[in-house]
Amino acid sequence: MTFHTSLPRKELFDIPKGIIYLDGNSLGPPIRGSTDCAGQVIDEEWGRELIKAWNTAGWMSLPQTVGNQIAPVIGAAPNTVATGDTLSIKLYQALAAALSLCPERKFLLSDAGNFPTDLYMAQGLINTMGQGHELRTPAPEDVLDSIDESVAVVFLTHVDYRTGRVHNIDTITRRAHEVGAVTIWDLAHSAGAVPLSVENSQTDFAVGCTYKYLNGGPGAPAFIYVRPDIVTSITPALTGWLGHKDPFAMELKYRPSESTERFRIGSPSIIQFKLLELAMKIWEDVDMKELRSSSVALSTLFIEEVEKRCPSLTLVTPRDPEQRGSQVSFASEDSYAIMQALIDRGVIGDFRQPNIMRFGIAPLYLDESDIISAAKILEEILISESWRDPQYQTVKAVT
Ligand SMILES: *Cc1c(COP(=O)(O)O)cnc(C)c1O
Repeated sequence: MTFHTSLPRKELFDIPKGIIYLDGNSLGPPIRGSTDCAGQVIDEEWGRELIKAWNTAGWMSLPQTVGNQIAPVIGAAPNTVATGDTLSIKLYQALAAALSLCPERKFLLSDAGNFPTDLYMAQGLINTMGQGHELRTPAPEDVLDSIDESVAVVFLTHVDYRTGRVHNIDTITRRAHEVGAVTIWDLAHSAGAVPLSVENSQTDFAVGCTYKYLNGGPGAPAFIYVRPDIVTSITPALTGWLGHKDPFAMELKYRPSESTERFRIGSPSIIQFKLLELAMKIWEDVDMKELRSSSVALSTLFIEEVEKRCPSLTLVTPRDPEQRGSQVSFASEDSYAIMQALIDRGVIGDFRQPNIMRFGIAPLYLDESDIISAAKILEEILISESWRDPQYQTVKAVT
């Protein structure tokens, strides 16, 4: 059932008191009930049922159940989304599939703003194939003009992880299809952040992770959407037994499942899947249009407040709400230390090379007063120069 709810819905989350959490674009907070959920899987399913739980507790079909929870959030039809593994792996599978659909073309087109793992996975695939493919990474603004008949696949991240800039999925997909190229959209920073319809866009593939705006927990399973009319013409790279049409037939030869399920590989991480299943229940009641208008209002307020209070910071995110996802980024030479001081004061965002402070705006658990308080604390840190404290200068492993 879908109905209008008013945002935020802080009561659904376990966020420590006094913390303003602006990093849900990197790792969403736990859903209330996560501890009980994991405990129940361990005690009552695994503990009591042991291996029988694959049948009795629905473990075997859990990846499909969760795929069908993700489908409406990204605008996909039921049974078109497979889940499991990590986003890097799902992207690799999509890239390999895309190249198999365009065997005579040698260019893979992405952009210089893409998240490094997406580019690394492409480079790895090119090396493994050893057929002289090449990766092109123009500036994000130049992508549309770089799509021509030499391009096999256009693979882009919809919302830029650093700047929050959005690509126009429909325009780029249409252009790619006009020249016969395959499209893959990485929805890592879009799923649960902006309204989406992968079906209407007619993209061939979409991939994403579930631990950012979908709040599935650290290392939660990834997802892959494949256009239903092409899925059976693709033999996936990484043909694991759970993508087989009948895994327990234990045949010597791989025979793919008839659906997107052929993109599954090996055993699903059941405890993670159960936490993700719990987190995805929230989305049954979220109106994506309402979420988007709240995201735009909060992001605009944050930009206004920070620009008014902190003139030394430079806005990196597009000012036009149509051009950005659900994060706001500011640049400063001292971004790393400022962010550490901010985290110490209970306002959690993060830092990305070379000089960017990122603030994720998740309307499910943020309101106007959080946004104004965060901007005020940032102002205090800049005025007092507390960020100069030596403890804030050492760069940690995870920034
Ligand atoms: C977060 C993110 C990833 C992370 O990939 P994992 O395999 O889940 O570690 C990949 N690509 C993009 C665009 C991301 O934003």
